[in-house]
Amino acid sequence: MALRNILTQGEEQLLKRSRKVEKFDARLHMLLDDMRETLEHSGGVGLAAPQVGVLRRVVVLLDVNKEPEEMVELVNPEVIEQRGAERRVEGCLSVPGVYGYVTRPTWAKIRAQDRNGNWFEREGEGMVAQCFCHETEHLDGHLFTEKVEEYVDVDDVQDGAGDGE
Ligand code: ZN
Repeated sequence: MALRNILTQGEEQLLKRSRKVEKFDARLHMLLDDMRETLEHSGGVGLAAPQVGVLRRVVVLLDVNKEPEEMVELVNPEVIEQRGAERRVEGCLSVPGVYGYVTRPTWAKIRAQDRNGNWFEREGEGMVAQCFCHETEHLDGHLFTEKVEEYVDVDDVQDGAGDGE
């Protein structure tokens, strides 16, 4: 396993649409392993492959609703259902030091494949629903800053979410 470099705003790859994963091979497994390690090291809650310069539809995130927290691998993820709306403070590992209010669903369901290609569904509330949305948007080349309604001072941020910390 190896730590990958996290790209920051201004890098072209962050604005591109990622391609679907077709091969569930050793190369994908290595990418997932590296992304897990990179996310753990970053202190964030989610990481999408384009953030490490790989334009593939791959995400790792921490399900903080589980006790203990669980690292989840999502290949070709899609938000298929969502409910509610709430304004939450959000940040991003690719936009360090920037936080703002974004309206996100209070609950969301995602459909994705695991590292072997098996489809599954997973539900998330609060920060996890927020993370599902934030990360899948990265796969389409979107950053949360496009959705910020109001920026907040870093010093006022108590529990930043999105994928930043
Ligand atoms: Zn992000």
